[in-house]
Amino acid sequence: MHHFVYTASPSRIVFGPDSIDQLPAEIERLGAKRALVLCTPHQREHAQAIADRLPGCVASIFDQAAMHVPIEVARKARALASETKADCALAIGGGSTVGLGKAIALESGLPIIAVPTTYAGSEVTPIYGITEAGLKKTGRDPRVLPRVVVYDPKLTLSLPMGLTVTSAINAIAHAAEGLYAHDGNPVIALMAEEGIRACAAALRALQENPRDLAARSSALYGAWLCGTVLGAVSMGLHHKLCHTLGGTFDLPHAEVHAVVLPHALRYNADAAPEAMARIARALGVADAPMGIFELARAHGAPMSLKAIGMPAGGLDQAVELAAANQYPNPRPLEKVALRSLLDHAFAGAAPTA
Ligand code: NAD
Repeated sequence: MHHFVYTASPSRIVFGPDSIDQLPAEIERLGAKRALVLCTPHQREHAQAIADRLPGCVASIFDQAAMHVPIEVARKARALASETKADCALAIGGGSTVGLGKAIALESGLPIIAVPTTYAGSEVTPIYGITEAGLKKTGRDPRVLPRVVVYDPKLTLSLPMGLTVTSAINAIAHAAEGLYAHDGNPVIALMAEEGIRACAAALRALQENPRDLAARSSALYGAWLCGTVLGAVSMGLHHKLCHTLGGTFDLPHAEVHAVVLPHALRYNADAAPEAMARIARALGVADAPMGIFELARAHGAPMSLKAIGMPAGGLDQAVELAAANQYPNPRPLEKVALRSLLDHAFAGAAPTA
């Protein structure tokens, strides 16, 4: 028997190849005229090309978006938005760029139009993060949820395969944890299972041809579903661990997710059999944690925390941090078992119990 609360996200989604052609109409629909375009230095050229197609709608371009939204960068972008009298932020990029848009919106209420170019999913969540003095503070605020998301799979053709794989597994992680969330619901579970299926199928096709537009479209569709799950229900051990490891040891975001997910799922497997069955079904495998491990390995993702820069001496601290605050997770947090999980992830060993 079901008992649940379901809150639908009010975002407008525009999806499909060439959907960036809809940007002028979407900006107008918001009643805006002066977009502050946001991007990373690396994506300046892409963002400029899109801005060039928006004559009369661009206030300025700010190209300093950086991982984890350093407060200094957010302050500069906020000042530029105010100086140029921008009336919306147009974030073109991955989670870092969308995150910068959120930092502006948090203070000013400026509406965000997001044009995602990775599979991180931030564009459909009301979650923000800002890093000050080495500490990333996160929170939820409906003001930071982008009002419109324009998903154009053509913009993901340039995503390098390494980041394609880790970013897609990052997306799968949102859906996997959504399937055992204490505040989950049947609609979100449908989205989660379909999101995992779409992302995994896309990765298999992209291995053959990274410029396969149908597969890019499937990956982005899956990323939207998985991101929606992240925005709607609570995450558990996996996200907590990745946040802790990434923040404390400065490890790359998507890569940490790809390494940790099989081990976090193994930790929770016996306590969440229904979720595991749905993840396995979406992947077309018998065992969910092994299925994720093999998916990562088959597509060349980094397999160990050691390989992505985690110091061996940090494992004890990581266990303490992960167990410091109890939070909802299918299996209680037990230090000895957490240490074993991290030892496996550090070494890149298969996710055995
Ligand atoms: P990212 O945005 O940092 O991008 C990584 C690199 O890839 C950047 O140099 C970027 O310019 C480049 N890139 C992005 N798209 C590209 C493309 N199509 N072609 C070529 N290069 C491209 O990475 P990410 O994994 O998308 O985002 C990570 C950040 O997002 C982290 O700070 C994470 O905490 C945050 N995040 C937040 C949420 C949320 O709900 N608030 C959700 C997921 C991730």
